[in-house]
Amino acid sequence: MSLIVMKFGGTSVGSIDRIKNVARIVARKKDEGHDVIVAASAMSGETDRLIGLLKEISPDYSPREYDQLVSTGETASVPLLAQALLTMGYDAKSFTGLQIGMQTDGTHTKARIKNITGEKLKDALSKGTICVVAGFQGYNPDTGDVTTLGRGGSDTTAVAIAAAMKADVCEIYTDVDGVYTADPRIVKDAKKLDTISHEEMLELASMGAKVLQSRSVELGMNFNVDIMVLSSLEDKPGTLVTSKEEKEMERIVVSGVTSDKNQAKITILGVSDKPGVAAGIFIGLAEANINVDMIIQNVAQEGQTDISFTVPKTDLVKTMAACRTVAEKAGAKDIVYDENISKVSIVGIGMKSHSGVAANMFRALSDNNINIKMISTSEIKVSCVIEEKFTELAVRVLHDTFISEKR
Ligand code: ADP
Ligand code: ASP
Ligand code: MG
Repeated sequence: MSLIVMKFGGTSVGSIDRIKNVARIVARKKDEGHDVIVAASAMSGETDRLIGLLKEISPDYSPREYDQLVSTGETASVPLLAQALLTMGYDAKSFTGLQIGMQTDGTHTKARIKNITGEKLKDALSKGTICVVAGFQGYNPDTGDVTTLGRGGSDTTAVAIAAAMKADVCEIYTDVDGVYTADPRIVKDAKKLDTISHEEMLELASMGAKVLQSRSVELGMNFNVDIMVLSSLEDKPGTLVTSKEEKEMERIVVSGVTSDKNQAKITILGVSDKPGVAAGIFIGLAEANINVDMIIQNVAQEGQTDISFTVPKTDLVKTMAACRTVAEKAGAKDIVYDENISKVSIVGIGMKSHSGVAANMFRALSDNNINIKMISTSEIKVSCVIEEKFTELAVRVLHDTFISEKR
């Protein structure tokens, strides 16, 4: 007998019919003789609806109240799933993050998991009960406050539980039947991958492929949890995210193309060109818990320079507020921002041993008159910031260049 963690996303539990469908998938797993822990998201649209209500009151809302509010989406969906299982004659129980001891730090809206005590889970499993856990939510043991793990965080709940409870596998059920070479909603001929390494999946997810939250992949990589991405709507083979088959995958230069529209660019104009200025700015932003991504510092002229960087669009209000303070200290002339940008990226382990990949990417974009505003590279990825309106075109062009034509 093995322990299986199954996670179902918002669309999969988006209606009572869908919840009953999920209950049948879970019941089948239990019938096969496994111990089962289920993590579920809020019903689709619910988290956005709640955030919308909060923003109607104040766009500059309290992060604590945000967490307290949005966590209710999952608090409500899991008893419905547990009840569906009970009605089918299975022993099931729902749990909140607090009840399973999902302890996090105090970073509201994107808290990091520190520990899962899991006492109630162990107890329920020992009695053969199916445990249905609210995804996305935790609590800060120092304050007792509810926290959430960032958008898409139920994936991270599932992988963290799988790691903590030493599950045999973590299955992530969603509205697509696996990880594709690009978002199948954008690229019609995107190809489903049978396997992908944790390392590549982490880059794809970090660069915007929302099929898995990047933190869930990071946990999977660090704790050696294999993640199987499957459809909750069709019974088909999915994609295995693993670190076991990297040799085979090394041959592929580009495994996937992805995009991220949740990006904004900020430029601090006319800061002094002297040691400590950049440190001052970015330490200030880090203290405000803002994740800065790409950074460009221009060549200095007459002792002054401009610094541009990108942040998640959802952090723009907070970032601008923090920037005003740090920019003043750095003696900056002005701060400007651009919300109409996106980031497109190509990812592949094979890039480690191939040259010219970035050059081909730039050429493919320029052939389609897409201007590149910023560039960043790592060993296995190249990303370009472009105008947001060209996002889908860029993804298709890059998929054609690096993936479709290679098949
Ligand atoms: P869930 O609600 O189940 O967590 P999400 O909406 O968060 O589901 O993630 C699934 C979506 O991710 C798919 O509907 C798909 O449009 C999108 N997606 C983006 N990139 C990819 C990719 N490379 N492969 C598969 N799906 C992707
Ligand atoms: N309900 C949360 C969200 O919409 C968490 C999740 O779905 O994973 O982001
Ligand atoms: Mg998701």
